[in-house]
Amino acid sequence: MSEEKKQPPISTQVSGLGSFLTDTAKEVLSGGQLRATPEEAAARYATCLSCPLFVKMPNRLGVHDGAMRCEKCGCAMGKKVKWKSATCPEGKW
Ligand code: SF4
Repeated sequence: MSEEKKQPPISTQVSGLGSFLTDTAKEVLSGGQLRATPEEAAARYATCLSCPLFVKMPNRLGVHDGAMRCEKCGCAMGKKVKWKSATCPEGKW
């Protein structure tokens, strides 16, 4: 029987969200792009697909919706990879 995956602690999630919002604001203020290119997003997602931390786990409300998320940050990567300033918490992209 496999161990049930859980969302990371709320402190980790809040810290990650804060960093993302700060980096996004800096990007906007410097005239940069909000969205990653389709090629960049696809490359990021491909990295996640081969990562052992990309697992089926419940969402932040504890609902098991069958979605794959990053065990490290708790994010659904299909959307996160499309934000230019988003980063992998393990430094893989
Ligand atoms: S964001 Fe990084 S750590 Fe998380 S699943 Fe993707 S590659 Fe793995």
